[in-house]
Amino acid sequence: MVKKVILILSLAIILLFFLFMINFRNSSVNISAYSVKEIGEDEIINNSDIQYFNNMRFARKILGYRIDSSCDDFRKNRMKIAFDILKNRTGIINFVETQTESDIFIDCKGYYENISEGFIKTGEGGTYSVINAGKFHIIRKGRISLYKFSDNCNTPNVEVHELLHVLGFKHSDDNKSIMYNTSSCDQDIPADITDKIISLYNIQEIPDLVFENLSYNKGFYYTDFSFDVANKGLRDAKNITVNVDYGNSMALEIELGDFDIGGKKTISVKNLRVYGDRKIKLGIDSINDLNHTDNNIYF
Ligand SMILES: [Zn+2]
Repeated sequence: MVKKVILILSLAIILLFFLFMINFRNSSVNISAYSVKEIGEDEIINNSDIQYFNNMRFARKILGYRIDSSCDDFRKNRMKIAFDILKNRTGIINFVETQTESDIFIDCKGYYENISEGFIKTGEGGTYSVINAGKFHIIRKGRISLYKFSDNCNTPNVEVHELLHVLGFKHSDDNKSIMYNTSSCDQDIPADITDKIISLYNIQEIPDLVFENLSYNKGFYYTDFSFDVANKGLRDAKNITVNVDYGNSMALEIELGDFDIGGKKTISVKNLRVYGDRKIKLGIDSINDLNHTDNNIYF
């Protein structure tokens, strides 16, 4: 009888010891952030698309422009007509004159400054500072220099051509296209360009957070896992949280802070306490998100 009690007590002590050991391990969360990836000139993919990179667009559809005082009224006016043509033909993008932070800068000085950060020199108009945000290549700045101004067409074909370079469009082999590498007055904007602009700028301009690169090691009591959260949308994302649910209860709330456009963070979790093989659910807590269907994953 006494032996039995001692045996039970011993087993209880061993059990308590194991329970203590299990509770003793603390789960830990580690977060590292990546800055946005900018694209340089040497990274241009020679794709068959009509743009330099896939899905190039500015983050906004109303773009500010500034025309330098080196342009006379005639050139200024033609540039403004070019903006109106693009606005009217697409019905979706618009251009407003600004004196401060401009998306597009136009000068008539006849030379280029050498801009080192991912500058694409395409005749007289180009785009520089392009971010690879996954779904889109976001154009941050465009520049037009009207130094070879020589056409006398009724329509401002050279200006439209340069503006389309700023919007990411390449030269065309079709000599009737305004994007042919030599200009003539009978050229026009082809439908594939206007269609592309309409489809690119039709997308809601909000953040789009997604999970990527999930990997995990599920043990019986503890699970280690890591994943990335990336912002592939067209706006910065603020105060983002990832909830880790286990069974019906929240196991962990991970505050990730803000994400720039194209921003990415890697989260690694060690020793999350689990029992058996119930599923772990990760959910991005964000009200303002383009596609909520990819905001949860299970494993
Ligand atoms: Zn050109």
